[in-house]
Amino acid sequence: MRIAQTVRDVRAARDRLTGRVGLVPTMGALHAGHEALLARARSGCDSVIASLFVNPAQFGPLEDFAAYPRDRHRDRAIFEACGVDVLFEPAVEEIYPPGESTRVDPGPIARVLEGASRPGHFIGVATVVAKLFAITRPSVAYFGRKDAQQLVIVQRLARDLRLGIEIEPVNTVRDARGLALSSRNVNLSPKHRTAAGALYKALLTAKSAWTNGQRSGQALRKAMRDVLDHEEAIETDYVSAAHPETLEELDDVPGPVLLSLAARIAGTRLIDNITLPDPD
Ligand code: AMP
Repeated sequence: MRIAQTVRDVRAARDRLTGRVGLVPTMGALHAGHEALLARARSGCDSVIASLFVNPAQFGPLEDFAAYPRDRHRDRAIFEACGVDVLFEPAVEEIYPPGESTRVDPGPIARVLEGASRPGHFIGVATVVAKLFAITRPSVAYFGRKDAQQLVIVQRLARDLRLGIEIEPVNTVRDARGLALSSRNVNLSPKHRTAAGALYKALLTAKSAWTNGQRSGQALRKAMRDVLDHEEAIETDYVSAAHPETLEELDDVPGPVLLSLAARIAGTRLIDNITLPDPD
């Protein structure tokens, strides 16, 4: 595995790659969810580039940028074991050199759900993804369904800016109790990890209501909120039953719907979602 820390080095390494090149962008603190993306890239591409960059532009001033989990040496070993050819590990100044100012604004879909709770978050995401795409020029890039709104925004970015890069979604990897794996889960005590199981339970409760014929968006949102409210440690941020592409809240849910939610447990913010009917 070649490690590149500068734009110049990763461009040179990219120029030597041939065939179908896959990109897996990450913020590190790797877990089995990241490994699923890397495995898909390895099996679907001739060469795999991964990036490890904790992007300051997608964190709000009161968010956990400084405290975000970091373990570069462990991550390098995992990238290597997953068959990564080139690991791009830039410093902040490589991606945001002094004087740069251009930002990518995905529009209204960036301002609902996560974007409403985290103003500017998706401008930071879209900007860094556009930069990583321009720097590494992949054929295909892999993104997790765990971050459903991010996935929709990146798909739209690739389409709207005519980038000619395929975006491949990868299903959410969960622990035995259904909790979606997240780098932030390391902040949860065993007790709070158990409480966090209510997020997936809330989604499954709404799923079973929908499967049994419930077509009211409001009723589906209430079903999720009731499960979360039942868990004392959970402070609900939002519950949503939205159109999977426009992300508009639905009153009637005859067809595809993105059920999503966000909650805080002892200061740690967690998100989860499922799409109905099952996407794969
Ligand atoms: P992050 O390092 O949190 O920015 O995540 C990097 C990529 O891994 C993103 O495309 C995420 O959606 C994806 N990802 C994070 N957690 C999971 C998970 N539990 N299952 C599948 N993909 C995930």
